[in-house]
Amino acid sequence: MRIILKGSKVKSKLTEKVEKISGQNIFACYQCGKCSAGCPMIDSMDYMPNQAMKLLQMGAAEEIINSKTMWMCASCHTCSVRCPRDIDLSAVMEALRLIYLRTNVNKVEPSQIPEEELKDLPQIALVCNFRKMTR
Ligand code: SF4
Ligand code: SF4
Repeated sequence: MRIILKGSKVKSKLTEKVEKISGQNIFACYQCGKCSAGCPMIDSMDYMPNQAMKLLQMGAAEEIINSKTMWMCASCHTCSVRCPRDIDLSAVMEALRLIYLRTNVNKVEPSQIPEEELKDLPQIALVCNFRKMTR
Protein backbone atom coordinates (compact mmCIF):
# COMPACT_ATOMS: atom_id res chain seq x y z
CA MET A 1 0.00 0.00 0.00
CA ARG A 2 1.39 3.43 -0.94
CA ILE A 3 1.70 5.78 2.02
CA ILE A 4 1.86 9.56 1.64
CA LEU A 5 3.39 11.61 4.45
CA LYS A 6 1.77 15.00 4.98
CA GLY A 7 3.27 16.94 7.85
CA SER A 8 2.68 14.85 10.95
CA LYS A 9 -0.19 12.93 9.33
CA VAL A 10 0.08 9.61 7.54
CA LYS A 11 -2.38 9.29 4.69
CA SER A 12 -2.82 6.34 2.38
CA LYS A 13 -4.26 6.69 -1.11
CA LEU A 14 -7.29 4.73 0.06
CA THR A 15 -7.91 7.04 2.99
CA GLU A 16 -7.72 10.00 0.63
CA LYS A 17 -10.26 8.29 -1.62
CA VAL A 18 -12.60 7.70 1.34
CA GLU A 19 -12.34 11.40 2.24
CA LYS A 20 -13.01 12.44 -1.35
CA ILE A 21 -16.08 10.22 -1.81
CA SER A 22 -17.58 10.81 1.64
CA GLY A 23 -16.72 14.51 1.90
CA GLN A 24 -15.57 13.88 5.50
CA ASN A 25 -12.33 14.80 7.25
CA ILE A 26 -11.13 11.48 8.67
CA PHE A 27 -8.45 13.23 10.73
CA ALA A 28 -11.02 15.32 12.61
CA CYS A 29 -11.88 12.22 14.68
CA TYR A 30 -10.33 12.29 18.16
CA GLN A 31 -11.48 8.83 19.25
CA CYS A 32 -14.10 9.81 21.82
CA GLY A 33 -16.02 6.61 21.03
CA LYS A 34 -19.48 8.21 21.06
CA CYS A 35 -20.25 6.77 17.62
CA SER A 36 -19.56 3.21 18.77
CA ALA A 37 -21.42 3.69 22.05
CA GLY A 38 -24.63 4.47 20.17
CA CYS A 39 -24.29 2.11 17.20
CA PRO A 40 -27.11 -0.47 17.10
CA MET A 41 -25.07 -2.82 14.89
CA ILE A 42 -21.95 -2.92 17.04
CA ASP A 43 -22.35 -6.60 18.02
CA SER A 44 -22.23 -7.66 14.37
CA MET A 45 -19.14 -5.62 13.48
CA ASP A 46 -15.56 -6.87 13.68
CA TYR A 47 -14.24 -3.30 14.02
CA MET A 48 -16.26 -0.71 15.94
CA PRO A 49 -16.99 2.54 14.08
CA ASN A 50 -14.33 4.49 16.04
CA GLN A 51 -11.83 1.71 15.34
CA ALA A 52 -12.66 2.00 11.64
CA MET A 53 -11.82 5.70 11.85
CA LYS A 54 -8.55 4.93 13.62
CA LEU A 55 -7.56 2.41 10.96
CA LEU A 56 -8.28 4.98 8.26
CA GLN A 57 -6.18 7.55 10.12
CA MET A 58 -3.34 5.06 10.38
CA GLY A 59 -3.38 4.46 6.64
CA ALA A 60 -4.79 0.94 7.08
CA ALA A 61 -7.90 1.44 4.96
CA GLU A 62 -7.49 -2.00 3.36
CA GLU A 63 -7.97 -3.60 6.77
CA ILE A 64 -11.37 -2.01 7.22
CA ILE A 65 -12.39 -2.50 3.58
CA ASN A 66 -11.86 -6.23 4.02
CA SER A 67 -13.83 -6.36 7.27
CA LYS A 68 -17.56 -6.91 7.96
CA THR A 69 -18.05 -3.51 9.57
CA MET A 70 -19.08 -1.44 6.55
CA TRP A 71 -21.55 -4.14 5.46
CA MET A 72 -23.14 -4.34 8.90
CA CYS A 73 -23.67 -0.58 9.05
CA ALA A 74 -27.41 0.09 8.72
CA SER A 75 -26.89 3.75 7.70
CA CYS A 76 -29.04 4.81 10.66
CA HIS A 77 -27.03 8.04 11.21
CA THR A 78 -26.98 7.62 15.01
CA CYS A 79 -23.20 8.00 14.96
CA SER A 80 -23.37 11.14 12.83
CA VAL A 81 -25.82 12.77 15.26
CA ARG A 82 -23.66 11.86 18.29
CA CYS A 83 -20.28 12.86 16.85
CA PRO A 84 -18.87 16.00 18.55
CA ARG A 85 -16.71 16.62 15.45
CA ASP A 86 -19.69 16.54 13.06
CA ILE A 87 -18.29 13.60 11.15
CA ASP A 88 -20.90 11.80 9.04
CA LEU A 89 -19.66 8.29 9.70
CA SER A 90 -22.45 6.68 7.70
CA ALA A 91 -21.08 8.57 4.67
CA VAL A 92 -17.64 7.12 5.46
CA MET A 93 -19.15 3.60 5.59
CA GLU A 94 -20.92 4.22 2.28
CA ALA A 95 -17.65 5.40 0.72
CA LEU A 96 -15.92 2.22 1.91
CA ARG A 97 -18.68 0.09 0.36
CA LEU A 98 -18.46 2.00 -2.91
CA ILE A 99 -14.69 1.56 -3.07
CA TYR A 100 -15.10 -2.17 -2.46
CA LEU A 101 -17.88 -2.55 -5.05
CA ARG A 102 -15.77 -0.71 -7.64
CA THR A 103 -13.31 -3.60 -7.42
CA ASN A 104 -16.09 -5.62 -9.14
CA VAL A 105 -16.01 -8.55 -6.76
CA ASN A 106 -19.39 -9.97 -5.70
CA LYS A 107 -19.62 -10.23 -1.92
CA VAL A 108 -22.80 -12.28 -2.30
CA GLU A 109 -23.17 -14.69 -5.19
CA PRO A 110 -26.92 -15.32 -5.68
CA SER A 111 -26.38 -18.63 -7.49
CA GLN A 112 -24.38 -19.96 -4.51
CA ILE A 113 -27.21 -19.57 -1.98
CA PRO A 114 -28.67 -23.03 -1.21
CA GLU A 115 -32.33 -23.44 -2.21
CA GLU A 116 -33.30 -24.45 1.34
CA GLU A 117 -31.93 -21.18 2.71
CA LEU A 118 -33.58 -19.15 -0.05
CA LYS A 119 -36.98 -20.43 1.06
CA ASP A 120 -36.55 -19.00 4.55
CA LEU A 121 -34.78 -15.74 3.73
CA PRO A 122 -37.01 -12.65 3.76
CA GLN A 123 -37.14 -11.09 0.28
CA ILE A 124 -36.27 -7.65 1.64
CA ALA A 125 -33.06 -9.06 3.14
CA LEU A 126 -32.13 -10.56 -0.22
CA VAL A 127 -32.82 -7.34 -2.13
CA CYS A 128 -30.83 -5.36 0.45
CA ASN A 129 -27.90 -7.76 0.18
CA PHE A 130 -27.87 -7.79 -3.60
CA ARG A 131 -28.02 -4.00 -3.76
CA LYS A 132 -25.21 -3.57 -1.28
CA MET A 133 -22.97 -6.51 -2.07
CA THR A 134 -23.17 -7.33 -5.76
CA ARG A 135 -22.08 -5.54 -8.93
S1 SF4 B 1 -24.81 4.65 10.67
FE1 SF4 B 1 -23.81 2.62 10.77
S2 SF4 B 1 -21.99 2.93 12.04
FE2 SF4 B 1 -23.37 4.67 12.39
S3 SF4 B 1 -24.56 4.12 14.21
FE3 SF4 B 1 -25.76 3.52 12.39
S4 SF4 B 1 -25.19 1.37 12.02
FE4 SF4 B 1 -23.63 2.23 13.38
S1 SF4 C 1 -17.97 10.16 17.60
FE1 SF4 C 1 -16.81 11.26 16.00
S2 SF4 C 1 -14.93 11.98 17.03
FE2 SF4 C 1 -15.87 10.43 18.34
S3 SF4 C 1 -14.82 8.50 17.77
FE3 SF4 C 1 -16.71 8.64 16.56
S4 SF4 C 1 -16.09 9.63 14.63
FE4 SF4 C 1 -14.46 9.99 16.13
